[in-house]
Amino acid sequence: MSNRKISIIVPAQAVPEGKGVTVHRTIGRAGLSELDPFLLLDEMVIGADDAGTGFPEHPHRGFETVTYMLSGSMRHKDTAGNVGEIGPGEAQWMTAGRGIIHSEMPTSEGVDIRGFQLWVNLPAADKMKPPRYQDIPYGDIPTIAGDGYIARLVTGELLGENGPVSEIAVNPLFADITLLRSGKIIVPVPAGHTAFLYGINKAYQVGDDQVPPRAIAVLKDGNAVELTAEKDTRLLLVAAAPIGEPVARYGPFVMNTREEIKATLDDWNNGRFL
Ligand code: FE
Repeated sequence: MSNRKISIIVPAQAVPEGKGVTVHRTIGRAGLSELDPFLLLDEMVIGADDAGTGFPEHPHRGFETVTYMLSGSMRHKDTAGNVGEIGPGEAQWMTAGRGIIHSEMPTSEGVDIRGFQLWVNLPAADKMKPPRYQDIPYGDIPTIAGDGYIARLVTGELLGENGPVSEIAVNPLFADITLLRSGKIIVPVPAGHTAFLYGINKAYQVGDDQVPPRAIAVLKDGNAVELTAEKDTRLLLVAAAPIGEPVARYGPFVMNTREEIKATLDDWNNGRFL
């Protein structure tokens, strides 16, 4: 087994997004504009008293989004007719494909809302496919027992088990890991895949490198990662094979060429988007 080392640690940058929301952005910010096949990673935080804030209707084209909640709940509604509400430990996976307009608004009251949104690119051949939406209730996400940790597996394969989200173009691994004891713990990671960690509650170490929470640690290649941390440290582990195609992006649209972005903006401005 070869343990992955850290290639870069990028702390989150606070960015205004949606209506009155501050997101903490790691992928998609200066210094880490993309991490093939991942385009953006936001930790969203909406205070219990921030009534009226959220993400009102907006479009997407050319990629997929996964939303994973830590606390509070949000309702998704889209132009393909899908409505879904997700709460703590639940996920939704939306394939924007050729185009979708959706809103993501808080539904819980009196509790801080905290969650993640990850944008996963689509290969050129899949960018214009029909939109799709899946939400994944708490009980459908298996908890896998590893040596010194548990992992809630949203998608991908870990220790021979598979997460419930299916038919994702790049078939990523998305796991919410909690360490059950202090000290060194080894978690397998698919070799050759882009992979990163994101600390949810505490600092941890990868090899000799200390990583604070609310920061992304991009990993070099290898087939495992050795974590050193306190008991109850919780972090995301995400990995996927890179797509290796050119990326042209403009706000919520991610295509391969500037011409395709221009065509998308033409569609949007002339009522041909959906
Ligand atoms: Fe969105």
